[in-house]
Amino acid sequence: MSKTPLTKNPAKNPDSADQDQFLTILSREEALARFEAALFPRAVPHESRLLAEALGCALAEDVVAPIDVPPFDRSNVDGFAVRSADLASAGEASPVRMMLNDEVIACGVAPMRPVLSGTATSIATGGPVPRGADAVVMVEHTQPAGARAIEIRRAASPGQFVSYAGSDIARGEALLRAGTIIGSREIGMLAACGIAQVAVARRPRVAILSTGDELVQPGHPLRPAAIYDTNGAIVTAAITENGGEAEFLGAIADDEALLEAAMRKALDACDMLVLSGGTSKGAGDVSHRIIGRLGQPGIIAHGVALKPGKPLCLAVCDGKPVIILPGFPTSAMFTFHDMIVPVLRRMAGLPPRSDAKVSAKIPVRIASELGRAEFVMVSLVEGADGLIAYPTGKGSGAITSFAQADGFLRIDALAEQLPAGAQAEVTLFTPHVRVPDLVIVGSHCTGLDLVTAPLARAGLVVRSISVGSLGGLAAAKRGECDFAPIHLFDENTETYNTPYLADGLELVSGWRRMQGIVFRQGDRRFEGLSAEDAVRAALADPACIMVNRNQGAGTRILIDRLLGGATPDGYWNQPRSHNAVAAAVAQHRADWGMTIAPVAHASNLGFIPFAEEHYDFALVKARKQRPAVQAFLDALASNEGRAALEQAGFRPA
Ligand code: AMP
Ligand code: MG
Repeated sequence: MSKTPLTKNPAKNPDSADQDQFLTILSREEALARFEAALFPRAVPHESRLLAEALGCALAEDVVAPIDVPPFDRSNVDGFAVRSADLASAGEASPVRMMLNDEVIACGVAPMRPVLSGTATSIATGGPVPRGADAVVMVEHTQPAGARAIEIRRAASPGQFVSYAGSDIARGEALLRAGTIIGSREIGMLAACGIAQVAVARRPRVAILSTGDELVQPGHPLRPAAIYDTNGAIVTAAITENGGEAEFLGAIADDEALLEAAMRKALDACDMLVLSGGTSKGAGDVSHRIIGRLGQPGIIAHGVALKPGKPLCLAVCDGKPVIILPGFPTSAMFTFHDMIVPVLRRMAGLPPRSDAKVSAKIPVRIASELGRAEFVMVSLVEGADGLIAYPTGKGSGAITSFAQADGFLRIDALAEQLPAGAQAEVTLFTPHVRVPDLVIVGSHCTGLDLVTAPLARAGLVVRSISVGSLGGLAAAKRGECDFAPIHLFDENTETYNTPYLADGLELVSGWRRMQGIVFRQGDRRFEGLSAEDAVRAALADPACIMVNRNQGAGTRILIDRLLGGATPDGYWNQPRSHNAVAAAVAQHRADWGMTIAPVAHASNLGFIPFAEEHYDFALVKARKQRPAVQAFLDALASNEGRAALEQAGFRPA
């Protein structure tokens, strides 16, 4: 043990009493070093594969060219094979007449007759140059001159339009090196040499198991309180992407005996086992206990100073890596890419990943936990002077942050924050940055997706970053976006949005969203009442629970106005979105709340209209002439755009 790990002393840490498995939290570097030391060096097994099945594999050995390519001196044009010396005096005014030999050399035809001085042989592109000839004249530079003769009006240099044997690939030359990843170009080189199969590193077989009573496989209906197994699919794909042969074995319930049987079976058949879930301190979390019984040396690291990803568990059982990824998909992905991919690629005979990196400015302060290396996903947009990286994180339980992110940045374990304005290195998820054509930062609305649909179909990349109305306005003032969608009510003027505009911004009318009370259809307390009466009825019933909205939301202002200072049961439940309000009511967690009509209707809930909210756009004037901005304005004003909004329950302005 070279470094002292960050140790959690259970006696000193009151909340660690039941965290027995996290007694020792290793630094990321220490955990990786110990894991690799327990696995390597090891031989990478080889196998022979047909070319068609070798795509993406790593060559196991150097390949030496067994033949010359081309195998003979080859004509590069359609024309005539000649002796160049015969044409030394040829010119515009002094054509040279050549007799044609009684032979036509098509592709695949071996020449039979030599080219003697004063003669030429008709030859096709790809045909073998006959004995005696040392150059080829293009057919375009010749003229027929009576029976079986041509005239040539320009000289030819020796070797003209001839590719000599071995000029592309020389017999005995090292064609490809061991470790090269076989792509279509490598396959082309091998095929040109007549090689039909090659020795490649055998892809490690990796078994994947998800764990949790709550997991349902995609394609099956979701039971109450269940969620779809995300990690199974995502880890399977990431293993394939990194040279493994993935074998997904499904999700196993949190049952020690069942899980142990599944893990043993997986380890018998595979070279590596990746589980997810069941590694934190929950009651059902058993996988790490099983590992101790599966082989030596067992657990190498359990608890790594990473965020997200602290509960990661790394083990080696009789030479095979066994990994338990954290359950939350984002944590699972980061730890997989950061800690498991290097090991998997080494086992697969692949070189380390070389991810592209760019430098970008952080527009807002990002707080970070001291003592853990932290990963933050970011969305890149083009600012006035360089790239800007917006954090897209929605917490380690979120999955979409991955899809919307362009890459991630790492905050050092010893840093408490990245200050606003700092320059950071962003590791890209793709080989190149694709800066979006249109950047929308502010409050999100499902109507926005309807308006931007035609832009996406036209190939424009639209990036919508959801930071709320005020966050969007701030970004617009800094010139970091094209539009900021806002719905801000000003109590003094009793108007929406206009009072909030600053210099350099212009209001573009969007649409109206009907805000109102949601309740479950058939609830007698609300059915048929006005919004005011419905709230009165709710307040009169002590068993009635509400769901509120977060401070700062336009909806919250309306709720507080209706409540007139009352704070009934549920008032402190303050989710941040319209959908969360509808879900709480639909699932009986609350009886009423306020949301917008389209969301209430999509959840099949009762709805009492209350007030129309203005959802508009603060346009950054300096960016108005950009083609994507114009395309957005056109889509917003178009008949199709308006019809789509109306269809979804919005009222275009
Ligand atoms: P666990 O470590 O098993 O307590 O899981 C932590 C969280 O991750 C819980 O909210 C789980 O429901 C969730 N989770 C675990 N496995 C998966 C999975 N395969 N797909 C999606 N979420 C998961
Ligand atoms: Mg679990």
